[in-house]
Amino acid sequence: MFYTAGWVHVICGCMFCGKTDEMLRLLRRFSIAGRTVVLVKPRLDTRTEDGTVISRSGAHHTAVPVDDSRQIEALVGDADIVAIEEGQFFDERLPEVVGRLADAGKQVLVTGLDQDFRGIPFGPMPRLMALADQVTKLTAICVVCGEPATRTQRLIDGQPAPADSPLIVIGGLGDEKYEARCRLHHEVPAAESGLGAGLAD
Ligand SMILES: [Zn+2]
Repeated sequence: MFYTAGWVHVICGCMFCGKTDEMLRLLRRFSIAGRTVVLVKPRLDTRTEDGTVISRSGAHHTAVPVDDSRQIEALVGDADIVAIEEGQFFDERLPEVVGRLADAGKQVLVTGLDQDFRGIPFGPMPRLMALADQVTKLTAICVVCGEPATRTQRLIDGQPAPADSPLIVIGGLGDEKYEARCRLHHEVPAAESGLGAGLAD
């Protein structure tokens, strides 16, 4: 299924659902078909060494870190495929950038968390999913019951993180950990200090 017109495919889900594996699998197929690929990721994703996206299964691909969605179009050049990792961490202009690339005939793949640790739509992902030609929503396995998981549980020092803990933590916030959980076992205690989870760094 290679397309001659542009196409936007969003691959989303909670943590540990295999989004990156799925994207790397599709990129391998495009490469076999002789298509050229540009892979970008937000620079704030410090999980991997700069310039490489590594899935939890160990597959890897070279990525270009960018600070802003507006930098993406300048990097694309003659590439047939534009792959974007960690879409949830991009700014709200990402859906427009992706739309312009597809209108110009590019195949665009975007992976990202559809919900944050509170179960709230994450960054530009909801609009991106609405505007996409294709959405693949993957599930993980709940660590509590073994049923399909669609939520990301954040734990701080072993306890479910309250709703007002920062959305993005750079450099750690105590002993922070994430798990995949089902709707029943996903826990978000009410905010400890009034309203509003913010962006902290
Ligand atoms: Zn469960």
